[in-house]
Amino acid sequence: MKILIGYPPTVSSKGIATLGQNRQFQWFSNPSFLFPVVPASAATLLKSQGHDVTWLDCVAERIQLPAFLEILRKTRPELLAFETKTPVIKQHWRLINQLKDEFPDMLIALYGDHVTSFPEESMRNSTPDYVICGGDYDFVLARLLETRQTGQTPPDGVFYRRDGHIHGNRNFCTNHDLDTLPFIDRDLTKWRLYEREYNFVRHPYFYIMSSRDCWWGKCKFCSWPRMYPNFRTRSVPHVLDEIGMLTERYGAREIFDDAGTLRTGAWLKELCLGLTDRGYHRRLRYSCNMRFGALGQDEYHMMKQAGFRLLKFGLESANQNTLDRLDKGIRVEDITRGCAMARAAGLTVHLTMIIGYPWETMQDALRTFNLARELMQSGKADLLQATVLIPYPGTPLWEEARQNAWFLFDPEDYERYDMREPVLSTADSDARRVADICGRTYTVFLTPRYLWSRLKSIRSLEDLQLNLRGIPAVVGHLREYIFAP
Ligand code: SF4
Repeated sequence: MKILIGYPPTVSSKGIATLGQNRQFQWFSNPSFLFPVVPASAATLLKSQGHDVTWLDCVAERIQLPAFLEILRKTRPELLAFETKTPVIKQHWRLINQLKDEFPDMLIALYGDHVTSFPEESMRNSTPDYVICGGDYDFVLARLLETRQTGQTPPDGVFYRRDGHIHGNRNFCTNHDLDTLPFIDRDLTKWRLYEREYNFVRHPYFYIMSSRDCWWGKCKFCSWPRMYPNFRTRSVPHVLDEIGMLTERYGAREIFDDAGTLRTGAWLKELCLGLTDRGYHRRLRYSCNMRFGALGQDEYHMMKQAGFRLLKFGLESANQNTLDRLDKGIRVEDITRGCAMARAAGLTVHLTMIIGYPWETMQDALRTFNLARELMQSGKADLLQATVLIPYPGTPLWEEARQNAWFLFDPEDYERYDMREPVLSTADSDARRVADICGRTYTVFLTPRYLWSRLKSIRSLEDLQLNLRGIPAVVGHLREYIFAP
């Protein structure tokens, strides 16, 4: 079958969509496009099964609608498959309707976290042929095409149309063996499109996922682990073999492992040993997402020795009540201790802070901001990103928000879930101040104490390059908040 897979044109006057591989959606003026691991895995798997697959990421390639339509007219794919998310779901519905008018025989399949929560909504409001639920849409799409060829009913987890009716269920399979997937075909999926992220020191760098998605998986606001349950990990040799392939074939010098949280314990020890035994620790740097409270000092040192460079941590709140309400499973003290241990091991600490909890007062939000600022200025953290809390449909937080009438607007105004404004009310403040705190976060990068701590931390040309490369991103964030309507 002739298949086009990737992302269709997705546009707004607010900026450029950060859609692929983003658990949270934003419009950015200075975007870096993350490599969309699972869609790329889907493209690779389908190609390995003999399909004629083309990768087309119109967002990363800046392809507008007229050019996209021209590509469809010329190439005439039999199937168009793409991921969607809450803030752009309505524009994707309109696009699908338009495409179906001009290309009625082209099958269209949608997948992603929003449609996993509400598959029938997309089937009713638009005209896709298939909506695929769950996070293993690479496996399920491949299975769906097999069932089409043999005339069988689509697999569980797929919604489809037959005889004018919508059929299907959400019983998607969550225990596929990730080791059975082929390594992602980086040429097919145009890896060079995704080479602009500012916080990588070495190039070329590659995204992989050693797991889907987070072994903790309980935080009430977190979209992928809550909507795609059942944490699974690839075996360490499988991960190391992929890294070896990326090193030999593409000269990889840095890896970002975008598992929601990297697996710890014996698996991590085996990974670190493997990175060292194979000599990868000398040739490349390894970065990942991590949880506070998950590792001790010895493990941070072990990771550093194995070539780990940057760890991304969620700093969801400096208020214990909030951490408990979110099911975060940590103490506030774990945050400071974790930053100190990671920095002591020589690792770079990247914090992602969240503002705007419905039960938090402005004082509570400022406590989180002050903790983040202190960690940055004292040199216990290196990078800071601030986001507004978004209750993605289908998460426990979204359900709680509905029950408590916390929404500031109609919960189905999905395009407003784009972090340009709070979605939920807060305990004692107007919504505008939540965005103000986010904007203020980026001013930390301009304070003399932070700049001095950065200067002191520069040990190499790579450190200097990393600091310089971050400047446009900080300026871009400041502009987005200062000039936000
Ligand atoms: S630890 Fe992080 S990735 Fe895991 S569920 Fe919580 S917020 Fe999500």
